[in-house]
Amino acid sequence: MNLHAELNPEQREAVVHGDGPLLILAGAGSGKTRVITHRIAHLIRECGVDPYRILAVTFTNKAAGEMKERVESLVDGTRGIWISTFHAFGARVLRKHADCLAWGKDFVIYDADDSKRLGKLILRELDLDPDQYRVEKLLQQVERAKHRLQGPDSLKRHFQLGARFYARYQKKLQQANAFDFADLIFQTHQLFARFPEVLAEYRDRFLHVMVDEFQDTDRAQYSLLRMICSAEANLCVVGDDDQSIYMWRDADVANIMGFHRDFPSAQVVKLERNYRSSANILDAAARVIAANRDRHKKRLWTEDEPGEAVVLERYDNEHEEAEQVAREIHQARQQGQKLSEFAIFYRMNAQSRALEEAFRLYGLPYLVVGSTRFFDRREIKDMMAYLRLLHNPKSDMDLLRVINVPARGIGKLTQERLLQAAAQADRPVFEILRAEHLGKLRSAESKKVLAFRTLIDELRARIGALDVDEVVALAVDRSGYLDWLHNDGDPAAEARQENLRELITAASDFSGMSGDASMGGFLEHVALVTAVDLDEAGSDRVSMMTLHAAKGLEFDCVFMVGLEEGLLPHYRVLQPDQEDPRYGERKVSSYAGVEEERRICYVGITRARKKLCLSYVRSRTLFGRTQENPPSRFLDVLAQSCQPASPPTTTPAWTWDQRPKAKAVAVDQVEVDLDDEDELVVDYSEDFDQSQEPLSRPEQEEQWMGLWVAHVSYGRGRVCATSTSQMGLKLVIDFGGLGKKTILAKFVRPER
Ligand code: ATP
Ligand code: MG
Repeated sequence: MNLHAELNPEQREAVVHGDGPLLILAGAGSGKTRVITHRIAHLIRECGVDPYRILAVTFTNKAAGEMKERVESLVDGTRGIWISTFHAFGARVLRKHADCLAWGKDFVIYDADDSKRLGKLILRELDLDPDQYRVEKLLQQVERAKHRLQGPDSLKRHFQLGARFYARYQKKLQQANAFDFADLIFQTHQLFARFPEVLAEYRDRFLHVMVDEFQDTDRAQYSLLRMICSAEANLCVVGDDDQSIYMWRDADVANIMGFHRDFPSAQVVKLERNYRSSANILDAAARVIAANRDRHKKRLWTEDEPGEAVVLERYDNEHEEAEQVAREIHQARQQGQKLSEFAIFYRMNAQSRALEEAFRLYGLPYLVVGSTRFFDRREIKDMMAYLRLLHNPKSDMDLLRVINVPARGIGKLTQERLLQAAAQADRPVFEILRAEHLGKLRSAESKKVLAFRTLIDELRARIGALDVDEVVALAVDRSGYLDWLHNDGDPAAEARQENLRELITAASDFSGMSGDASMGGFLEHVALVTAVDLDEAGSDRVSMMTLHAAKGLEFDCVFMVGLEEGLLPHYRVLQPDQEDPRYGERKVSSYAGVEEERRICYVGITRARKKLCLSYVRSRTLFGRTQENPPSRFLDVLAQSCQPASPPTTTPAWTWDQRPKAKAVAVDQVEVDLDDEDELVVDYSEDFDQSQEPLSRPEQEEQWMGLWVAHVSYGRGRVCATSTSQMGLKLVIDFGGLGKKTILAKFVRPER
């Protein structure tokens, strides 16, 4: 394929740019990501750069997966290339060098929920009233400090209590051999700062570094980049200041604006032609973003036709809105359109509930991208806690989660005593689960505790010899979890049981896909995946996601729902003076907040290729409160480029009040905490597109022998043995220098 034929002159200039830093500052849909993928292909193919020496960083795992796919379709032989998110980069570096920082290499990664439970424990230890001090707020300060690369002392001046909390929290993390999410960047930074020889390894390795969505890097990430790249390095960053939407997570647009200060020799390329959206959609986007004061003015143009008018709809409530969206997509499907061409965006995760219900009623397959899905379900978190405990028994959070799950008669009081004993001995709880430390317990209590210890010891003794899926199956079985579900009369027991089975499949899929059957590998994979899509790859579904998760993606037809004041813009930026001085909070002006919300709106609009439908409702119930909010202020300008929709031509099959009962409503009525709403959403589906196979897949087992195949992580290899398993056909593949790996056939692609 001719790499350059598909590029316009400015894009080509960026792709063939020689040595030295390069900044591509350009609007949405102008081909920034395309430039990165083509540049990587160009470096490998035309400049003979060893893929091993290329690092490409992007914002979500989904984006990283897509980038890998795109590069692989452009060039053969990408083995060794490192394409990941900043967080996954940190995790991988730490996995190799955590011992320098006095953590174990088998560390676990705590998610927001784990951190919160640890935080609550510390509040108790510090004797602080949890009704008076909100653990979320304290954790937010810790996270902020980490984003600024600061340790506990940094909080001392303004916020004594925060400093104590932070110090204790960090110590506990270390004792538990755990890192939280912010640590993946912060501690990697510490590592590089304190161990120049470790840093040198990466500085020498990466000849070319590229960063997509550069506008959303925070200070810590940027510093990390600057450590790896000298001022003259081949660092290529691409971004769009209009799409900076993570300010609330301390992303710093100044990084893009100040790039020249740190990389004075940087060449700048601007891209102005949009290849994605129709002229009407582009016009709507331009109108919205023009109202922002703090921005680099950019001109975006397209040669496309005006296309369909942007549609603006008003509904009575969120159910009517959801039902209409579902109905429209249903009709389009009947006319032969593919569901994967449709996406629905909303501001807050909780908004998906109404949409999901409507989609179930219409029997429309959908995928909620990156939200509280599979791995956040209770039974999955419980079982993951077992696995993490088996892997790393020092993790108190995991131990406390499962010591009485299923119920073993080890009540809160006993747990409290164990914690005290552990604190006195200054050791993890697991280590004091021995008769000599349990003197303070009654004999019946200590018997139960010792039985738990025996269970964990027995499981631990067996895991070395098993693949991770076998470990999961064993843990599910031996923990007694399933029996407990059934005896407990939990109405969702059946569904939970299915989910646990799915977890076993997930583990075996993981080892098949990555060739890594170790438990550590699986735990890391899950930790980085706040949401894994376990459904079959390639099935036709509508995508639903928050506007934040939509960044970088594109769809033919986009529905943006809930354009109301309080949702978009988010209520939080409309009440700017709510900071609580007790937590040493800084003030963010409501003006800056609204500008960020406007950028979020702009990101949503610019995802659409052909059709864009906006909607708002008169009355909405969210988090149990019904509110009537005015239409979003952003609609004031948008309405001018919109066409009000014609009234529906058919009457709905049912009204909301008489709705048929949904058959399979979600298992978990997830409890939503407002402060948890905006979790960084990361999707980690590395499954590659099997529809693009160059060669057909052999039908017979013996036809695989000797075949050349390609794998997403290992590159090209040759099949040297085959066997069948419950999971399907397994291949032993020789990847040359990387050795032999056993991989499920469905995860590789035959090659010429
Ligand atoms: P975003 O700001 O949303 O991240 P982007 O600038 O990264 O967008 P891409 O995703 O790279 O833009 O490109 C947008 C669309 O335009 C893609 O479908 C891409 O394939 C297409 N495209 C980009 N450049 C060209 C070109 N020169 N010729 C044809 N299509 C192009
Ligand atoms: Mg992009």
